[in-house]
Amino acid sequence: MERKVRVRFAPSPTGPLHIGGVRTALYNYLFARQHGGDMILRIEDTDQTRFVPGAEAYIIEALEWLGIKFDEGVHIGGPFGPYRQSDRKPMYKQYAEQLLNDGWAYYAFDKPEELDAKRKEYEAQKKTFQYDCRTRSEMQNSLALPAEEVQRRLDAGEPYVVRFKFPADLDITVHDLIRGDVTMNSNLLDDKVLYKSDGMPTYHLANIVDDHTMEVSHVIRGEEWLPSAPLHVMLYKAFGWEDTMPQFAHLPLLLKPEGNGKLSKRDGDRLGFPVFPLDWHDPKSGELSSGYREKGYTPEAVVNILALLGWNPGNDQEILSMEELIKLFSIEHISKSGAKFNVEKAKWFNHEYLQKKSDEEFAQMFEPQLKEHGIEADHEFVVKVCGMMKERINFPSELWDTCSYFFEAPTEYDPAAIKKRWKPGMTTHMAKVIEVLNTVPFEYEALHKAILDDYIVANQFNMGQIMNSMRLAVVGKTVGPDMLTLVMTLGKDETIARIQRAIDVIGEVSE
Ligand code: GLU
Repeated sequence: MERKVRVRFAPSPTGPLHIGGVRTALYNYLFARQHGGDMILRIEDTDQTRFVPGAEAYIIEALEWLGIKFDEGVHIGGPFGPYRQSDRKPMYKQYAEQLLNDGWAYYAFDKPEELDAKRKEYEAQKKTFQYDCRTRSEMQNSLALPAEEVQRRLDAGEPYVVRFKFPADLDITVHDLIRGDVTMNSNLLDDKVLYKSDGMPTYHLANIVDDHTMEVSHVIRGEEWLPSAPLHVMLYKAFGWEDTMPQFAHLPLLLKPEGNGKLSKRDGDRLGFPVFPLDWHDPKSGELSSGYREKGYTPEAVVNILALLGWNPGNDQEILSMEELIKLFSIEHISKSGAKFNVEKAKWFNHEYLQKKSDEEFAQMFEPQLKEHGIEADHEFVVKVCGMMKERINFPSELWDTCSYFFEAPTEYDPAAIKKRWKPGMTTHMAKVIEVLNTVPFEYEALHKAILDDYIVANQFNMGQIMNSMRLAVVGKTVGPDMLTLVMTLGKDETIARIQRAIDVIGEVSE
């Protein structure tokens, strides 16, 4: 029988979720949905020293914002719960004991200072110490100590850890759905700690026990876990769970825009783009790390950007909705090499997704900004301006800078534009424009004919200079939509007042 697809996103609550982690969650989600499978949110909080308050809630909020939904998880429960490893703590002991009884694990009593001394001893000989099949006999563990001594220490309640016992010189092959077979020799692998005498498992034990008991079929996670995969494969073997071992897919790293190394928060700060989905206030330092949501990215754009960082649909389609991604996603099209983050492309995606919003939705984003600037504008007028200007917007926060002159007459005029455009005689030209506005019907075609054709072209005046000066008078600088459209939007009286003001303030200039 085909096995039901069950995948999990298993973050550790050690801080805000990096967008690399968001991408892992997304790929799991796409895969689950495509196969009619289940998506699980499991919180891996066995390392209490790295626990950060608020991180779990942040992860849940971020994934909800992005539309990455779960069928089971820490926030919604489910038949395989609990879904937070600290709440599953009592479950793990029996599994550590099973490995000990079957000879796949051993007790180790080495104190931190003894391990330190050992490391130093090796360093002195220019070697690196690793607790493994070649060194374990020199250490304080149940393989090296006499059985009675081990029992005495256990009875006396001496702190211990349980370590995995890798067989010597064994080639371990991990079959990865992206990379194919990856083989590592056990001599290179250290005897990882699986369990501690305080009753807490480590990541490795808890992860395998949970994936098995939660009937996970596919483990899709970041490449940084590939070095741990041989241990994980061995654990499945040791427990006798090989038949139902999940299939592995290790995702390529997200790289810096320059391509050299892993994308970090510092790159984001340096280049002005977030590496987190939502703003994060560090509870200890109070430091703020900015998020995509607060920067004004739409969740659909972020999903689209992340989907294409390391995967492609096999053609050059770039704009892909969640529904399309679910249809098209395939592990075969995930690349082996790291994916470079492209800041400009990210902005482009946001632009494209913003354009899908209606003028009305834009107006709703803009109105709070207008209010902040003390402007009460007619709603219909705001909608109209948005319709005209939205094409120039990458982020909602740009609305004010891009459109403020529709709501506020300029009080200053760009000196460079004055120098370039406002030539001697310009006050006469502007007075003529006012005269036309006052006498000709206030209609686009009529104004076009009177100002451009009958006045400028017929008299062979400099079109660029006059029209740009008019723009300077109305806008304060030489930006904005088609000049006459702008005039029609602002209305006759407002336009005349603005041009008159520019004549008064800038005045006539000499050569
Ligand atoms: N807790 C691990 C992490 O934070 C999960 C690794 C895995 O998916 O196996 O990334």
